[in-house]
Amino acid sequence: MTLDRFIDEVKRRRTFAIISHPDAGKTTLTEKLLLYGGAIRLAGSVKSRKTQKHAVSDWMEIEKQRGISVTSSVLQFNYNNYCINILDTPGHQDFSEDTYRTLVAADSAVMVIDCAKGVEAQTKKLFHVCKMRNIPIFTFVNKLDRAGKDPFELMEEIEQVLGIRSYPMNWPIGTDGNFKGVYNRIDNQIELFEGGNHGQSVVSSVSGEVSDPVFKDLLGEHLHKQLMDEIELLDIAGDDFDLNKILKGELTPVFFGSAMTNFGVQPFLESFLEITTPPLARQSNLGLIDPETQNFTGFVFKIQANMNPAHRDRIAFIRICSGKFEKGMAVNHVRAKKVIKLSQPQQFLAQDRAVVEEAYPGDIIGVHDPGIFNIGDTLCQDASKIKYEGIPVFAPEHFAKVFAKDSMKRKQFLKGVDQLSEEGAIQVFKRPHVGVEELIIGVVGVLQFEVLEYRLKNEYGVDIQMQQLPYKYIRWVETEKFDPDTFSITMDTLIVEDQDDKPVLLFQNEWSIQKVEERNKNAVLKDISSRN
Ligand code: GDP
Repeated sequence: MTLDRFIDEVKRRRTFAIISHPDAGKTTLTEKLLLYGGAIRLAGSVKSRKTQKHAVSDWMEIEKQRGISVTSSVLQFNYNNYCINILDTPGHQDFSEDTYRTLVAADSAVMVIDCAKGVEAQTKKLFHVCKMRNIPIFTFVNKLDRAGKDPFELMEEIEQVLGIRSYPMNWPIGTDGNFKGVYNRIDNQIELFEGGNHGQSVVSSVSGEVSDPVFKDLLGEHLHKQLMDEIELLDIAGDDFDLNKILKGELTPVFFGSAMTNFGVQPFLESFLEITTPPLARQSNLGLIDPETQNFTGFVFKIQANMNPAHRDRIAFIRICSGKFEKGMAVNHVRAKKVIKLSQPQQFLAQDRAVVEEAYPGDIIGVHDPGIFNIGDTLCQDASKIKYEGIPVFAPEHFAKVFAKDSMKRKQFLKGVDQLSEEGAIQVFKRPHVGVEELIIGVVGVLQFEVLEYRLKNEYGVDIQMQQLPYKYIRWVETEKFDPDTFSITMDTLIVEDQDDKPVLLFQNEWSIQKVEERNKNAVLKDISSRN
């Protein structure tokens, strides 16, 4: 293959995650993007994942029946010569660390907001992880077919609550159940959609210059005047379009639409693909690595074990960062100092998983993991010992003491806990003078506790007992020398160590964090740590 073709392949990749608070419409929008990409024929064929949200037991059943839920982890399809990889952040009401880590593999994010609800709690959390990485963040304001907040009010809310400037790329024409179309600010075009079969297929539309008198007739005097006034207001009051700021994640382009009826989906998709970035260079111990470098490199951002007890295999998800991947290639596993052959790599096409012959930067491949990978591991083709920056360990918000009910099963218990922690499903902490005799498990979402209980029982035959602890905040302590016996804390604070024996504090309230900071001026308390 020529170098030119390789570079073309890299440049046409778009790898992004869709983030939202549950029920804002992430699944529906994903499905509609697949519909427009021609990857599915009738919307509705992406299985509803609704049941996962209601009860943990349902979720377990689904995972068990499917064996593994990888098909929903990443979807690849083509649209106009773009090759699109959508990383799905798990849709559980109760999300987990996985959700956060997936964002590390994305080059940009699409934030879906329900126009009636505005910016919700989970959107805020996910937004902040994207912001940390300075990746472009696009906003899709959804459910415009229904009554919702005023679009100006929504823009203001995004800016106030999230602290990011916004630029409406298009503007809705008709709201509150009377959504007729959008006005595209970049090319001054109006696009009116024609309703039909409840969004099951691509909608047709009429479009033209905003100045075309036909729109006065089509919209009616009142709506037309309202639109003209709003356009004027936007031009006077808003921020300017600034591609540079968008690419640095300082300005979010905002689109209005309705994923359910397909209104506004295609204008969003086309504009998003054009503006957003192809695979980004990544930071490593050897500096920034350009995706167009010939040396194949990638890192593991997610490990998923098979929930089916009959097959205990695990799949490691690798984000390709540079070079071309070819099936069967031998690569260096940098941390383990081993050469391994990636022989059955899989890729996840819109509906199936298939063995992949070749893949490019921006793509995600899944490889069978016989227990050799950790989250954050780097793979590379040459002997350069490159290591990508560690994937952050996110702050758990729930803690529990966990024991094996049967003390004879202690060995299996420790083995299971160890493995789940390597997968990144839980975080394990020890008390300084107590050690593994008493383990404290921390999780980002409480669902992870149930997964822990279920998997220890099913995969290791261990029944566990959990005792919830009152801690809500975690801080990693950075100081020259940490002595747990002399470090000054408040009564309700607990000192523990993480898997790498780094000192960690668990707090019940923010007041104590402040006190401890005041009393230990030489220490820095951080709410995020880094693996490796
Ligand atoms: P997710 O939890 O963010 O993945 O949300 P879903 O895509 O599952 O959507 C949640 C609910 O909102 C479902 O009942 C959808 O049918 C509905 N929904 C999604 N998009 C729209 C929309 O554009 N308009 C309306 N009225 N409902 C929508």
